[in-house]
Amino acid sequence: MKLSKIAETVCPSPTLSMASRVQEKRAQGVDIVDFSAGEPDFNTPDCVKEAAVQALENNFTHYTPYAGIEELRSAFAKYLADLGLEYSSSQIVVSNGSKHALKNAFTAILDYGDEVIVPAPYWNSYIDIINMCGGVPVVVKTKKSNGFRVQLDQLCEALTKKTKAIIINSPNNPTGMVYSAEELAEIGKFAVDNDLFIISDEIYSRLIYSKKLKHVSIASLGEDIKKRTVVIGGLSKSHAMTGWRVGFSASDTELAEAIGRIQSNSTSNVNSIAQKAAVAALELAEEDANAMLKQFEHRRDYIAQRISDIPFLSSLLPKGAFYIFVDVSKLIGENIGERRIETAADVADILFEKYNVAVVPSDAFGYEDHIRISYATGMREIVEGVNRIERFVKDNF
Ligand code: PMP
Ligand code: GLU
Repeated sequence: MKLSKIAETVCPSPTLSMASRVQEKRAQGVDIVDFSAGEPDFNTPDCVKEAAVQALENNFTHYTPYAGIEELRSAFAKYLADLGLEYSSSQIVVSNGSKHALKNAFTAILDYGDEVIVPAPYWNSYIDIINMCGGVPVVVKTKKSNGFRVQLDQLCEALTKKTKAIIINSPNNPTGMVYSAEELAEIGKFAVDNDLFIISDEIYSRLIYSKKLKHVSIASLGEDIKKRTVVIGGLSKSHAMTGWRVGFSASDTELAEAIGRIQSNSTSNVNSIAQKAAVAALELAEEDANAMLKQFEHRRDYIAQRISDIPFLSSLLPKGAFYIFVDVSKLIGENIGERRIETAADVADILFEKYNVAVVPSDAFGYEDHIRISYATGMREIVEGVNRIERFVKDNF
């Protein structure tokens, strides 16, 4: 019996796979530093957990409206209003994490063979999600010299008659870079001029590390841009709620209704308890989220300094999210004993096997010569992990 083409080609998420390899090593008693998955080490804030307990006690355990409870859709609308985006609650669909919101959005806009422009480095799941929806990802490689931000001439070059959408992720996973309002306006105009949808993955919008830098949503840059944009967000990163699976999409009414209908026939509503918890996160956990943000900034500063002090390694200073994208190109082509280092994956492999540090090589993100370090982990781990990376470089190069 033959499985579908999708089943045969879909890859396991490389970030989650690396996280599983870490669990396996830990189960064998190995002291491994985990810089792999982008998952906050913090506990979910108490007020959020209490709201969940309360929901259970109140027997809030039935199906809810498939697009989410009104209270939560309104709370997300208010959250977006604080970013300068006006959406009614009916334009918001609550999904099982932002990953699911992305899947719903692409299902709603793509026909078989439609192309989606994906700037690289990209978050790994975009490619598989687009493929699963019958689309064709068209990868456009950004340059380090442009701060890993896609340029207009690159978009024009990638455009074909089949282009249906472009995906923008700012702050970005894996580079931590942030687009300026001017750059986003240019991309927005490109989308308007060529009648494209914009999928704007803003899951890291609350995680920006400069008072001077503010998150700008591309949808806030004009009605004609907003109409064709799907804003994607969620609570996994900003509120340490990865396991609760709460994300959302906000879009034009017609598209939001389609996304709702798609979800109603696939997963129905998000877990009812998690929805109540999410309302508490948005209404009561501002201080907790700010405290985590401060910790992330402190970690970013530390790790960026340490990496810049290690010979042969370099990186741009991440402005947001919780990743640092480290250039290891100077190690490529060198030998360690019998082993020749050909790619960033070799670097990651040696770090994992010999130095017990888990990082994700950049081929997972459609790029070469880099490793991604997630600093969404405690300071003790960060210090130890960077010490091991430093030892790896000093021992071998
Ligand atoms: N988008 C980006 C850029 C991410 O890094 C992640 C990481 N999990 C997601 C979406 C999905 O997050 P979640 O489904 O937990 O909301
Ligand atoms: N987004 C996180 C990461 O990039 C979590 C893993 C995943 O959802 O694939 O590591």
